[in-house]
Amino acid sequence: MSMSWEDMADEIESMREQLKVARSEAVFHRDRVEELEAAALRERAAIQELVEAARDVFRNEPDLDEDDAPGHCHVVPGVWDKSNGPAKGGMPCGLCQAWMRFRAALAKFDGGKGESGE
Ligand SMILES: [Zn+2]
Repeated sequence: MSMSWEDMADEIESMREQLKVARSEAVFHRDRVEELEAAALRERAAIQELVEAARDVFRNEPDLDEDDAPGHCHVVPGVWDKSNGPAKGGMPCGLCQAWMRFRAALAKFDGGKGESGE
């Protein structure tokens, strides 16, 4: 198999074109990765702010109940008492359910308390 000088020159030119395309794709993907990393950092900062604010709630009110939302006190945590009438009695209390979800979600961050952010 032999190639003419012209064929080789064409081949090299074609490889140069492919390299140019690959370089511009690499730049595009690098920029995309940088955008995603920046977005992840912004989200992380927003979550940290939210967690810190939530922790401040409990620092300032250490006696808040684990299961019942502030101002609520049910016989069965998170469930309306029978004395609340037939429509509500025995039904889940939406605020307390949300409170328990909030506590559970916050607890996931407590293990990372000593973790250095940056
Ligand atoms: Zn409740």
